[in-house]
Amino acid sequence: MKTIGVLTSGGDAPGMNAAIRAVVRTAIYNGIKVMGVNQGYDGLINGNIKEMGLSSVADIIHRGGTTLRTARSEEFKTEEGRKKALNVMKVFGIDGLVVIGGDGSFKGAEKLSDEGFPTIGIPGTIDNDLGYSDYTIGFDTAINTVIDAISKIRDTSTSHGRANVIEVMGRHCGDIALYAGLAGGAESVIVPEVGYEVDEVCQKLIKGRNRGKLHSIIMLAEGVGRAYELSDEIEDKTGIETRVTVLGHIQRGGSPTAFDRILASKMGAESVRLLIKGESGKVVGIQGNKIINMNINEALKINNNLDKDMYELTKILSI
Ligand code: ATP
Repeated sequence: MKTIGVLTSGGDAPGMNAAIRAVVRTAIYNGIKVMGVNQGYDGLINGNIKEMGLSSVADIIHRGGTTLRTARSEEFKTEEGRKKALNVMKVFGIDGLVVIGGDGSFKGAEKLSDEGFPTIGIPGTIDNDLGYSDYTIGFDTAINTVIDAISKIRDTSTSHGRANVIEVMGRHCGDIALYAGLAGGAESVIVPEVGYEVDEVCQKLIKGRNRGKLHSIIMLAEGVGRAYELSDEIEDKTGIETRVTVLGHIQRGGSPTAFDRILASKMGAESVRLLIKGESGKVVGIQGNKIINMNINEALKINNNLDKDMYELTKILSI
């Protein structure tokens, strides 16, 4: 392995820069040249590529987003598109690739590997929706952003005696709502893996109100439904004034937490080690605080199951 490429793809996540930095520095430490691919798979097709030296990744470990930028590429999903990408990599002398992204990006990486090109994936997504890995890069930062918002909303919620529905990201995965809900002391946590009964949410609100609770935080994962509809239903059924906060893209930004920076650094380094060993078609992950790797096709078959014990705990602690 003489030259590796690195790209970020799909939705951005805080910590992607720390992963890029680790890939670049680990490779150079091992005498390997690194080419940075801008704008995900699109950049691979269009040759939007430049060499990355040691100082190209200076001063980025603390930055959110991705300095390589990211994209969603329809062309890369086609065989023709990937043929172009393979040719471009040949021209630039790239003989191995690290892809930092979510499950879609991994499917693209798997195709490249199946087509004979050494490729390794690193999980970069705030959703934490990859079942094979306990955590994905960006998730910890996102839940910290959410609990910061919860604390602020709690202040005003208490002052006015209102209920608040806070809608968070995660697509089909409820982890952001669950983890931030537990850490933020939410009264109700609503996740797509379980669903909800509006009457149950309302009963809890009324019970809390009757024992003198001044505020109520209802965490709603975006994959379950819309916050405004739920808020209207709650107001209609309980008469409790209810406000909505849709946190949106604020959850995708910000300086990565120490946890995400460390995770990204370890995963970035491991991805390069795997390429050096001649591995391909694998993804790096973390299980029980150990960095692991697994074949992409096996990893993508593992469902991301909600932590049921944690979900039950949110209920017990919010009685
Ligand atoms: P996030 O979880 O943040 O949305 P993601 O990696 O899952 O990130 P996607 O938009 O699903 O985001 O995928 C990113 C890119 O990966 C796509 O735009 C496409 O270029 C490539 N990709 C996705 N699925 C495939 C596939 N089946 N074959 C080839 N390439 C794919």
